[in-house]
Formats: sequence, C-alpha cells, structure tokens
Amino acid sequence: MKVLVVAETNGERVLEKTLPAIAFAQQKASDGFTILAIGNDLQGAEALAGYGAQVVLAVNHPALAKPLAERYAPVIAHYAQQLGVDAVVATTSTFSRDVLARVAGMLDAPMLSDIITLERTNGKLVAKRPIYSANLIGTFEVEGTPVVITVRGPAWGKPEPKDNTSPVQAAEAPADIPTRSEWLSLRSSGGGRPDLTQARVVVSGGRPLKDPETFERYIGGLADVLGGAAGATRAAVDAGIAPNELQVGQTGKTVAPELYIAVGISGSVQHLAGMKDSKVIVAINIDPEAPIFQVADYGLVADLYQAVPELIELLKNNKGA
Ligand SMILES: Cc1cc2nc3c(=O)[nH]c(=O)nc-3n(C[C@H](O)[C@H](O)[C@H](O)COP(=O)(O)OP(=O)(O)OC[C@H]3O[C@@H](n4cnc5c(N)ncnc54)[C@H](O)[C@@H]3O)c2cc1C
Repeated sequence: MKVLVVAETNGERVLEKTLPAIAFAQQKASDGFTILAIGNDLQGAEALAGYGAQVVLAVNHPALAKPLAERYAPVIAHYAQQLGVDAVVATTSTFSRDVLARVAGMLDAPMLSDIITLERTNGKLVAKRPIYSANLIGTFEVEGTPVVITVRGPAWGKPEPKDNTSPVQAAEAPADIPTRSEWLSLRSSGGGRPDLTQARVVVSGGRPLKDPETFERYIGGLADVLGGAAGATRAAVDAGIAPNELQVGQTGKTVAPELYIAVGISGSVQHLAGMKDSKVIVAINIDPEAPIFQVADYGLVADLYQAVPELIELLKNNKGA
C-alpha cells in the first residue's frame, strides 16, 4: 500500500496531531509513504523528516495561509492523483473531518473515519472503529482505490524515529485554488492554556460548577496549577457554565491525556466516549455510586468545593518546595 499522509497544519506551522497518521503509515504503507504539508511560509516541515517517509512535500502559497477545506482539498487531491497513492491519511481532528471528507468527494473515493485497525482481507480493506459512543466496535470494509482514511490518535500513538532523514522538497500548488471562502477569524477561549486535545493534563468540570466564574476558579485554577487544559461536560456547556469548545465527549472533543481529572462529573456514556482512553483518570464526586468511579483509576468521594481548593493549595505548596 502506497500512502499519502496529510500533515495537520494551521497554515503557519505543522502540528503534533500529524504524528498518529505517520505512525499508521509506518505500519501499513508497505510500498512507502509521502508526507504533504500545506501552508504559507510554513514552519516545521523538517520535523517530519525523521520518520521514514520517501519525501516530505511542502506546498507554500499565499492562498493557503489558513487551513480552509475548499483551498486545501484540491491540493491534496492533486498530489494523491499525481503520486498514484492507495490511501490518503490524516489523524482524526476537526481539520481532517473538514478537509479529508472534501478530498474523498473530489476523488470519488470511499472514506474510513476514525479507524483503530486496518487489514486487507480478500482484496478488500477492512477497518474497525468505535461506534455508539465507543460502546461498540464496528467493522467496515471498502473496495477501490484510493481510500481516504482518518485514524484515531490514541490507537496509533507516536511514530518511531528513523536514522535516515527524508528529503524535504518544495512542491507547487495547483494553479486553480478556489478562493470563494474566506478565513475571517479564529477565536480561542483557552486563556493561554494548552490545546485541549494535545494537553498532557486535562481537568474537566460538570454541572455542579454553577456559573462561568466558579468554573474558572475551580476547574481553570486546578488546570493552571498542573499546566493543563480545562474541559467540560455537555451539561456544563448547555447550562452556560463553560464555553462550547471545551466540551469533551461524543458530540465534543476526544482527548487522551496522561492525566484526566473529572470534577463533579457523573460519567455518562456520552462523556466517557471522549475521555476513556486517558492514561490515568481521577474522579472527584460527592456520590460514591457515580458511574465515573467505574472507569477511574483514583477516586475521591468528596465535595468538590472543599477538595479542589485544598488540592490547588497542596500543589502550589509542593511546587514551591
Ligand atoms: C446525543 C447526546 C450526546 C451527548 N454528548 C455529550 C458529550 O459530548 N459530552 C458530555 O459530557 N455529555 C454529552 N451528553 C450528555 C450526557 O448524557 C450527560 O447528560 C452529561 O454528560 C452529564 O453531565 P454532568 O456529569 O456534568 O452532569 P450530571 O449528570 O448532572 O452529574 C453531575 C455529577 O456531579 C456530582 N456532584 C454534584 N455536586 C457535587 C459536588 N459539590 N462535589 C462533587 N461532585 C458533585 C453528582 O454526584 C453527579 O455525579 C450527550 C447526550 C446526548 C443525548
């Protein structure tokens, strides 16, 4: 299988989210793989050269300064056709959901989303992926080439560094990049905290946080002392306690940090779908029967209004020590 890995970029630099797609290519691209990075004055393409790709192609063009699906998809489709690849692959993310679905449409290719395994059986590609809030694993098969694939990050992990360095080549953008859609602005309420999907530590809060100020004081406060990101349940988002982009779960973001602290969160299947791949899960809940304790590695049955300030204080003092 010959693979084209689409690097995730924000138009200015290559993002770490690219790595699971490269790990996939290392395992599955028996006929080699190329990495394609798109942007304008793009930084970081060289960092992708140490993973065994045949070549890293860097396409720079002023019209590609922001990652708009309408503009990036024709570039990806162009190189998929020119290289004659069997699969176009990126890591599952908001970026790839947007851009790769359009690539699949342009190539009239089948698409496999968020896969955790891929095998070839009787000439067909057979993939597995979590479905129904990750309560079931679905098996899907597709025929035809190329196939467009997004891979679930935690399932593929990080690629192995290789001794040989791949050449990084400047590549031309196709002449006819559509410019009907414009990038207007990017609004982030992260308050300088790490990206929720990339953070090593995520502290999430639920409905009992009452209002945005309380959420910020308790959840933001604990996240900051741990150098982590803040997340929230949908109940907290729907109640106006936390902004929409902090939602973790089936209809929010999928996270897999090294440490996930669930504060005042019951542990609904929809919330678990977005965080149960976390390495260590800590739950703080007043109710010892709360379902979150079934997935937690460490549980504290306590009132969050007492436990969280004590934790923040302890962590601050430890840092000073
Ligand atoms: C189609 C669909 C999609 C959904 N998608 C998502 C999703 O993406 N993400 C998501 O999170 N939810 C999602 N939901 C909603 C989900 O079903 C739950 O309603 C939601 O996760 C519950 O949020 P919660 O745990 O904050 O609130 P609750 O269920 O109300 O739980 C609050 C918890 O806080 C504890 N608590 C209360 N007071 C304190 C205190 N002082 N100290 C400590 N603990 C306390 C309680 O014991 C309880 O366990 C979805 C639902 C549907 C139908």
